Amino acid sequence: MNLPPLLEQIAKKLQQENARAVLVGGAVRDMIMGYAVNKDYDVEVYGLASILELEKILSAFGSVNLVGRSFGVLKLVHEEEEYDFSFPRLEKKTGKGHRGFDVVTDGKMDFEEASRRRDFTINAMGYDIESGTFLDPFNGRRDMELKQLRHIDDSSFVEDPLRVYRAVQFSARFGYGLADETEKLCREMVERGMLEELPKERVYIEIKKLLLKADRPSVGFELMRRLGITERCFPELHALIDVPQDPEWHPEGDVWVHTMLSIDAMERLIRDESAFSIQYSALREEKQKLKLLFAVLCHDFGKPLTTIIELENGEVIAWDPSTCLALNAERFARIRAISHEKAGVEPARSFIYRLTDEHDFIESILPLIEHHLKPLQFYKQGAKASAIRRLATKVNIEELVLVAKADFLGRTTEEAKSAVFKAGEWLLEKAKTLKVEKKPLECLVRGKDLIALGLKPSPEFKTILNEVYELQMEGTLETKEEALAYVKKKFCGAETKSDLF
Ligand code: ATP
Ligand code: MG
Repeated sequence: MNLPPLLEQIAKKLQQENARAVLVGGAVRDMIMGYAVNKDYDVEVYGLASILELEKILSAFGSVNLVGRSFGVLKLVHEEEEYDFSFPRLEKKTGKGHRGFDVVTDGKMDFEEASRRRDFTINAMGYDIESGTFLDPFNGRRDMELKQLRHIDDSSFVEDPLRVYRAVQFSARFGYGLADETEKLCREMVERGMLEELPKERVYIEIKKLLLKADRPSVGFELMRRLGITERCFPELHALIDVPQDPEWHPEGDVWVHTMLSIDAMERLIRDESAFSIQYSALREEKQKLKLLFAVLCHDFGKPLTTIIELENGEVIAWDPSTCLALNAERFARIRAISHEKAGVEPARSFIYRLTDEHDFIESILPLIEHHLKPLQFYKQGAKASAIRRLATKVNIEELVLVAKADFLGRTTEEAKSAVFKAGEWLLEKAKTLKVEKKPLECLVRGKDLIALGLKPSPEFKTILNEVYELQMEGTLETKEEALAYVKKKFCGAETKSDLF
């Protein structure tokens, strides 16, 4: 295995002290699978009598932080890499919640015993660094070959319901299925309401991994649906299931199916960044990727609330699963979801708040949902420059085009299969010419300019600045000089007059 030299040096030193360093967790799994390890090395140290001994040995190699002396975890920081060293431990559930654990550390414990607390067999493998031996007490290698996640122990697995979400994200990241017994256990945990007691921060970490690390996040969301998680924990997502759409625009199926295709399309767009003619610098930031992925995931949350079905006999009914599912879809003459993009804002807000309290982040996602139809509408209408400038005051147009493109690609129409999103390209081109593709126009005039023109600060300033900005939107005022001349002519003259009285 190709390990950082520092780890090899530490392992050698530990061996001289009659101890062994065993690499554990995701790093071992990723190396065997051939994935790059994400600078996240967890090492378990066997054979020492006390954590203080370990601390002393490690401090010769870099700065050591005690993350939790009682849990036996020491963090070694060395040239931007972080290594977690820990003592083998047992965890026993003693109370509710993820903190209700008794932890027993013991340097003399054996590897199998200590690995029993881990979630899946593929995460419970070890690599003895010094001897180069591979440790696999629960047959993780075999499960890798079978491409499956298998839990280690029935009684310990249920002690932390987060493991169900971990199953979801690992399943999507690696394209693995769940072993039958694991799927059954997960389903039972969901049914017993155990996932509801998890703190949102912990769930969010796993959902973020699902969105950011899986090639096809839809695999995870489909699993969440199958396990009953969407129904119990995410009603806004669950509501998309079965909502019918006009087959002309959406031959792929219901709103859920379309959303799944769209979220995978967004993932591809993000990964394909280099293939874009336009440089989407925004995509470099993880937060921005998440923003786009959440926007796509939620873009049609308004459809269950607004879908109207016209039957062949002229009858019009609002979508409601309890009545509409019994109807023969062939009788649907027309299906519409007018203003669904606006109706989606509220459910999207409550959905994302269930995962995080990052207010500004959440609010930044909502305009992408509210305006996701604009690229297509603007293109069809041949929208004027003023409309595009106004749109840029509400949403980042580059990002909006990406969201709309994922929505477009998440279909099986002939046009979508061609993968050329004309409306998006048109809007982006126009927005670039107008220099509003990333942000709105800046106001040409500020309060201090008005003062320099001799106006006295007053509430009227706001009116003047708004008026100038409106004229900028219309394209009437383009330069600062023009704007100042306008203000001077219209407002300074007036003030001089009023000053006379
Ligand atoms: P990733 O690539 O997502 O970091 P990972 O396997 O390294 O994957 P971590 O959350 O970093 O996941 O955890 C490291 C290891 O700790 C896991 O491989 C697993 O053995 C164990 N682990 C972490 N969280 C849990 C949990 N909730 N239940 C059981 N074992 C866990
Ligand atoms: Mg990890």
